[in-house]
Amino acid sequence: LVQLYIPLNFMGMLYREIKQALIDIDDMFRIIEQNPEIQDKPGAKPLEIKQAVVRFEDVHFSYIPERPILKGVSFEVPAGHTVAIVGPSGAGKSTISRLLFRFYEPTSGRILIDGQNIADIQQTSLRKVIGMVPQDTVLFNDTIGYNIQYGRWDASPEEVREAARLAQIDRFISNLPEGYDTPVGERGLKLSGGEKQRVAIARTILKGPPILVLDEATSALDTFTEKEIQDALDRVSRGRTTLVIAHRLSTVIGADEIIVLDHGRVVERGNHTSLLALGGVYASMWNRQREADQARETLKRAEEEE
Ligand code: ATP
Repeated sequence: LVQLYIPLNFMGMLYREIKQALIDIDDMFRIIEQNPEIQDKPGAKPLEIKQAVVRFEDVHFSYIPERPILKGVSFEVPAGHTVAIVGPSGAGKSTISRLLFRFYEPTSGRILIDGQNIADIQQTSLRKVIGMVPQDTVLFNDTIGYNIQYGRWDASPEEVREAARLAQIDRFISNLPEGYDTPVGERGLKLSGGEKQRVAIARTILKGPPILVLDEATSALDTFTEKEIQDALDRVSRGRTTLVIAHRLSTVIGADEIIVLDHGRVVERGNHTSLLALGGVYASMWNRQREADQARETLKRAEEEE
């Protein structure tokens, strides 16, 4: 039996490795698809993570030369801290996360991780250390368990469950007829936006990256779901260097620093309380959003009473 077990076990290992390699290749093609001009420099070294400090230094960027999008953006996310980028639609918030992943290169300025310019390091090593919880998660046509396991193939079923529990999706999954083996995606169960986001959070918890980028959902979730997701995000970002791309403001209150971006420039920075006291762009965005939220709640209540 041992004679059979060893080769089978080896084949299992091989299978997992091939699968991981295929995913890496798949990721690689996605990047190449995004921008074939971004190549590793000859002799590029892998990124060495020490504390995971992220730093933007006077970053300028434009997708097309005649339209500058970022006009000298500088900020630092200290190790284990959370920095949120807020600002009006089109201000360049998501562009910042695309540059951090090196989907594009700054026109000038530098992006450093632990003092290493990301333009000089191997792209694969960069993407290994950054976890992303995107606005809209793509699910594979496979089981819900597989979709979480994608974060790390060698995770045990217990670790998958623990990640799901931390992401507040475990109870939902356990109540499904086939539990973690329930098929999802086009040919299976359809998940709501909030559920999909929690699957993405579980995946990221499993991956356990030192740097996190949270690209928050633009669409308004109901208050209960929003709170659940916020709790899950707080858990996953604890102790990690986190950059939050905030399209709504309700989730940035606890951030160590909030950077207000307007027309590609940092116009204000500080924490929630100091920015409200400043009475500038952030304060007016906050008031407008609160009014909109209140109006929505009133409308919902009126509909429920009818
Ligand atoms: P939102 O909150 O609405 O998502 P944002 O602040 O995240 O906005 P970005 O997605 O960073 O904004 O986009 C900034 C500007 O860059 C926008 O005017 C957008 O039209 C433009 N832009 C984004 N992607 C591209 C692209 N691939 N090519 C050309 N222009 C682009």
